[in-house]
Amino acid sequence: AKISGKGSFRLFSQSLSQEAQSYFHVGAHIREAIDLDEFKVYYQPTVNARTGDINGMEALLRWRSSRLGRFVMPDEFIPVAEQLGIIIPLGEWVLRRACSQSLNWLELFPNLRLSVNLSARQFSDPALVSKVEQILQETGFPCGSLDMELTENVLVKSEDRAVEVMNNLVRRGIGISIDDFGTGYSSMAYLKSFPVRRLKIDRSFISGIPEDKGDLAIAEAVVTLAHSLGKEVVAEGVETAEQMRILGSIGCDVLQGYLFSPPVPHDRFDTLLSGGPIR
Ligand code: C2E
Ligand code: CA
Ligand code: CA
Ligand code: CA
Repeated sequence: AKISGKGSFRLFSQSLSQEAQSYFHVGAHIREAIDLDEFKVYYQPTVNARTGDINGMEALLRWRSSRLGRFVMPDEFIPVAEQLGIIIPLGEWVLRRACSQSLNWLELFPNLRLSVNLSARQFSDPALVSKVEQILQETGFPCGSLDMELTENVLVKSEDRAVEVMNNLVRRGIGISIDDFGTGYSSMAYLKSFPVRRLKIDRSFISGIPEDKGDLAIAEAVVTLAHSLGKEVVAEGVETAEQMRILGSIGCDVLQGYLFSPPVPHDRFDTLLSGGPIR
């Protein structure tokens, strides 16, 4: 028992330090990548479920690493950037870039809304509101056309402060969306107290439609709940025409997913916009 205990300790500490090392490397690499201009913002359209028209775009970060010679996806580096606090400058960069790139699209289609993801670390940054305000001022992007996406877990951490920060954003005309709705440790009560404009039903509930009756029941319940609270519902991860039809028929307001388009670079989003309804 002693030997195996020792052995497993050695293994454990080895893997821990490997993890710490890889965190350190990825962290240094991310800082370098900002300077090297290796990040890009991609845009995924959202469509009006009734008309099929594009009504907005979600900004999603992409990293083409010259050092690794490949794209690194957000699920690989966002958690590290979050852990190391680099998400704060990186998140500001995304917001600034997305606002300035989207401005042209808004001139042609004034009803478009831009959605930007906000991580827990950013949300708890005391300077968040003033930074957002500064970026909007710098870029000239209209506050009323911006939505910020937060996950449920960000909100339950410190409820009072969360309400205060959200109110500060909402007062400036910014909309708040709850992302990945249904996956967090949520209490339904917060829906009442948080100034939230839309709920995004997590992809994991959409992917089972139509086969999984439970998923469909959850989606329907979220639509009913959201609408009775005066909120809009977005279904994310829509991949099939059948899902589009069903989600439209149960009253989802906005749809997003590969069926319409994957996230695309800025210039390809131009092309999407000039094409009219995409489905
Ligand atoms: P998310 O905010 O839930 O974004 C939706 C993710 O689903 C995106 O993955 C998108 O490419 C993907 N997706 C969209 N439609 C479909 C579909 O029909 N089928 C499938 N299978 N996937 C679909 P992505 O771009 O890899 O981003 C992953 C996560 O990384 C995001 O999840 C978000 O939490 C985070 N993230 C991305 N960009 C940023 C950012 O700028 N800031 C922060 N804080 N987080 C970001
Ligand atoms: Ca999102
Ligand atoms: Ca999501
Ligand atoms: Ca997600």
